[in-house]
Amino acid sequence: MPSEENPLVTIIGEKCRMCYACVRECPAKAIQVVDGQASVIQPRCIGCGNCLLVCSQNAKHVRDDTQKAFALVDSGEKTAAMLAPSFPAEFSDIEPGRLVAMIRALGFSSVHEMSLGADLIAHEYAKLLERDPKGRYITTPCPAVHSYVRKYQPALTRFLAPVLSPMVAMARVLRHDLGQDLHVVFIGPCIAKKRASIDLTHTEVDAVLTFAELREMFEQRRVKPDSVEAADDFDPPYGGVGAVFPISGGLLQTAGLQEDLLSGEIVVAEGRDEFVDAINEFDVAHPDARLLDVLSCQGCFAGAGMTSSETNLQRRSRISRYAKNRIAGFDEEQRAEVAGARERYADIDLSRSFRPDAQTLGGPATVEELREILERMGKHSEEDFLNCGACGYDTCLDHARAVYAGLADSEMCLPSTIEQLRTAYGQLEDSHRSLEDAKEALEKSGRLASMGQLAAGIAHEVNNPLGILLLHANLVLEECEEQSQIHEDLETIVDQANRCKRIISGLLNFARQSRVVRQPTDLAGLVKKVLHTTPVNEGVEVQVEDQLKDPVAEIDSDQIVQVLTNLLSNAQQAMPEGGTVAVGLSDTPEEVIIRVSDTGSGIPEENMAKLFDPFFTTKQVGMGTGLGLAVTHGIVKMHRGQITVESNSDRKAGPTGTTFTIKLPRYEERPA
Ligand code: ADP
Repeated sequence: MPSEENPLVTIIGEKCRMCYACVRECPAKAIQVVDGQASVIQPRCIGCGNCLLVCSQNAKHVRDDTQKAFALVDSGEKTAAMLAPSFPAEFSDIEPGRLVAMIRALGFSSVHEMSLGADLIAHEYAKLLERDPKGRYITTPCPAVHSYVRKYQPALTRFLAPVLSPMVAMARVLRHDLGQDLHVVFIGPCIAKKRASIDLTHTEVDAVLTFAELREMFEQRRVKPDSVEAADDFDPPYGGVGAVFPISGGLLQTAGLQEDLLSGEIVVAEGRDEFVDAINEFDVAHPDARLLDVLSCQGCFAGAGMTSSETNLQRRSRISRYAKNRIAGFDEEQRAEVAGARERYADIDLSRSFRPDAQTLGGPATVEELREILERMGKHSEEDFLNCGACGYDTCLDHARAVYAGLADSEMCLPSTIEQLRTAYGQLEDSHRSLEDAKEALEKSGRLASMGQLAAGIAHEVNNPLGILLLHANLVLEECEEQSQIHEDLETIVDQANRCKRIISGLLNFARQSRVVRQPTDLAGLVKKVLHTTPVNEGVEVQVEDQLKDPVAEIDSDQIVQVLTNLLSNAQQAMPEGGTVAVGLSDTPEEVIIRVSDTGSGIPEENMAKLFDPFFTTKQVGMGTGLGLAVTHGIVKMHRGQITVESNSDRKAGPTGTTFTIKLPRYEERPA
């Protein structure tokens, strides 16, 4: 088993885009996603390489043995290269003799085909079945399948045919011929074999290179097809039909067992889904099957270590064609050598044993525990179970089980994440809007505050001299002859000084807004009093609509009188030809609402934003100070209330008029 320091497959975090394709394709469910980080649980990994094949981001890293191989060939010690029989499917661009010469150019002392190992192993299988006609076996050279059985169907480990892999068998053959001190490097399409090579039972292969790594070594050492002279042949010993071994069912064909396929005694399965189903159902679905010939890939030419972009069919036909031509091209001597191989290597032990390596993930979750996880994923009822597979698990329930086992995050559920994002987006929009409002209000109150300061300063300075001026003007006026020019001029002075007084008092009101003295007040009575003392212009009708359930509110009555006076005076001024002013009073348990409507000229759209600005007035000089609404706004805000205005000044759009609505909290906010 690979150690954590030297894992077979790792995930490159920066490259992983969390598409969960590898989670979906991993037959061992060995990929864990926790806190948004995907990683391979090493003891669960069977090395099938599916995660590499489906990763569009190249976010998987496979342990690289090129440096180890370079160290061996550079050491000057005898190092044999052993080429998997699928090489014709990978190196369709390089003819075999040239490939052999290129591998030798890297420094390998000899280059061999592995097909003889397959021949010997196939024969072992045949012997096994002959010896034990009733025995049932999972016959596979595939280390990923071995791992799957040992880890996930440990009870079936006893069915694994106790026969060496062709790779290790061939390594033994080479050491038999070339000496026990020989180093052996296997080159093939399979990444699972990298693991087999360091499995304790197989210490006989020094390094396992993928075809991709071999190409990398050629690249690094600048070995090109045209930089070498093609070799005549591989180095002996030669193999026979073992050359078709990578093709699914090839092992049985090599063992001469193929015709039994039709009898149902032999079941052949290949590829990610088929192999898992075939193993999981070995006892149930195929109780009569004696042989289960399984490969985790579509054949040993479809592994993750291949770089070929050809279809599986093309690769398969290249291997068959090569095997056919190879055997047909043997001379007498080679034929005799192949025929005598079994006898020659009869003393090599080709047996092995397997031990279970059960990978359990704790006990099963209870219904309650699963329901809780599903709730977290926003799945409250059957209809929420979309079973869309986006998380990498076939069903929502499988996903929940994986979350329980610590293999997955509940955030991997795409529909629920989209829903959460949608809600978060809505909340963000809301808070953005309130922030905008708050910003606007802040700007306004900032503007008002500085204006208030300025106004207070000026009002204070001007008020006293103005009072003295008025006093003296009135004194002189009393002593003046009534019909005289001076009397008339003095009256003008007193009029204008009085106007200044009004402006000053408006300014002082505006500046004094920060103090509110709340007292429980009968709002309906207050309104009645204001209406009683407010002069009503000719042609104006004032209506009161009192819907207050509870008329008492804690307000500063003097200030609210001022608010009502301002609104009533504005309303009347907007109706020079007469009309109706309606004062509506309503409430909730928390607030009181005052509505002042008129049927006047209305406020043009372009003035709406400026209404509450101090000194904004559309009235003639001498008629308005532009402070009424600014003061009103200030008083309402100091009461922690709201003032809004609706108006229509466009006759074409309907009856013109304006409504001011003021909402005041019924009670003063007291510190908790
Ligand atoms: P002033 O009344 O001194 O002009 P205000 O602050 O009270 O100052 O009002 C500012 C402006 O708002 C007014 O000049 C007027 O144009 C507009 N306005 C206020 N109330 C009304 C209303 N009920 N109908 C039409 N316009 C109004």
